[in-house]
Amino acid sequence: MQVTARATDRSRLGDAEVSLDERPARLRLGEPGKEREHFLDWERAVDDGGHLRKCVLCGCDSLYRSRSMPRLTIIVAVLALSVVAVGLAGYGTPTIVVATLLVVAAIDVVLWMRSEWRLNCYRCRSTFRGMSIARYHRSWDARTQRRIDSLSQASPGSS
Ligand SMILES: [Zn+2]
Repeated sequence: MQVTARATDRSRLGDAEVSLDERPARLRLGEPGKEREHFLDWERAVDDGGHLRKCVLCGCDSLYRSRSMPRLTIIVAVLALSVVAVGLAGYGTPTIVVATLLVVAAIDVVLWMRSEWRLNCYRCRSTFRGMSIARYHRSWDARTQRRIDSLSQASPGSS
């Protein structure tokens, strides 16, 4: 799987390929020459089906799934808005505007279907992709986020 690793303060550490089968204990991340080693916590991190269950960077047991948004989708959205603007300004016949919007919508649906699922950590926002994702991982949830945030804020002061 491909990992975009982040520190506990959510600053980006770097990207790396990590094998779920080999489960390396350490990961070298950073720009060439400035690499640093980060320890991966594999304790109960993979379930019986071989799926990632928790974040191996910060140890948080709550992950959520999301789709990676292709950059083209943003371009498609801008294109759609400009078509509407041109239509409102009266430069195009309604049929052309509607037809263009339908084409743009079709492109967007195809792009969305081709985008891949990934897992994100609620605490450190590290992302994991390029592997199968267990069904019990849900989309982002505000209540879970609040619970994780309150846990993270409580832990440094309580020790
Ligand atoms: Zn994490």
